[in-house]
Amino acid sequence: MAGGGAFSVANLIKRIVPGIIQRRLKTLLSYFRRFPRPGRLKVIKQKARALLPYYRRFHCPICGAWDRRFESFRGRPDARCPMCGSLERHRFVWLFWLRQTDLFSGARAKMLHFAPEPCLASRLSQMSGLDYTTADLRRRHAMVKADITDLQFPDETFDVLYCSHVLEHVPDDRQGIRECCRVLKRTGWALILVPITARSTFEDPSITDPKERERVFGLAGHLRRYGPDFADRLREAGFVVSVYTPDDVAREDAARFSIGPKVGPLYLCRRH
Ligand SMILES: [Zn+2]
Repeated sequence: MAGGGAFSVANLIKRIVPGIIQRRLKTLLSYFRRFPRPGRLKVIKQKARALLPYYRRFHCPICGAWDRRFESFRGRPDARCPMCGSLERHRFVWLFWLRQTDLFSGARAKMLHFAPEPCLASRLSQMSGLDYTTADLRRRHAMVKADITDLQFPDETFDVLYCSHVLEHVPDDRQGIRECCRVLKRTGWALILVPITARSTFEDPSITDPKERERVFGLAGHLRRYGPDFADRLREAGFVVSVYTPDDVAREDAARFSIGPKVGPLYLCRRH
């Protein structure tokens, strides 16, 4: 027989489907192969939903999910992303990094992330240019075991530091903040968040009963309630502080990311 190879369906497809579509299909297949099998179906479902206006109400900027509803969390409707589990504050922080910093520019940066939230850590660990370390006192999902009040890193090690909802669990939070300042480079910046649930900060070390702590401080593991004067503790340690609310980061589209009005501020800290 004259002409090319043996007849097969694959050959036929190669001949009649334009090259550009073949390449797109290949890219799409390799994309789905990157995800573990159990999660693959979820990803395909989310990608399909992104095409349908009916589902385009809420969007997670971290994992790219679209949905008509997000999951409720601690009585807050549409709080948790059904795909990556991000909460309002995680999406707020992600948008801050995306819109107000050059963290995702691909430039080289050494980053330390305390008590890593899986939804953020899974993306940050894949960022090109980022030399990324996670740390936790009990090493839950973290690369290194570290006590925030006594860090094993030398002075001025990191360009970027992220510490969210950690200090309210730390007995000597002022020492923790001083350590954050110490390991940060002179040109670096830290993003620090705590729940702001009081008019002014109050603590009482004599309260040790978990039930009583939950009643007074909101959660059994919390050692104090912070007020907006938290910024003063950051300044005491030597930081120059700028406060950002969701309005500063996502005024027009906060509803789309379901960030909600109750999300506390984030504190951007630089060294003197
Ligand atoms: Zn998500």
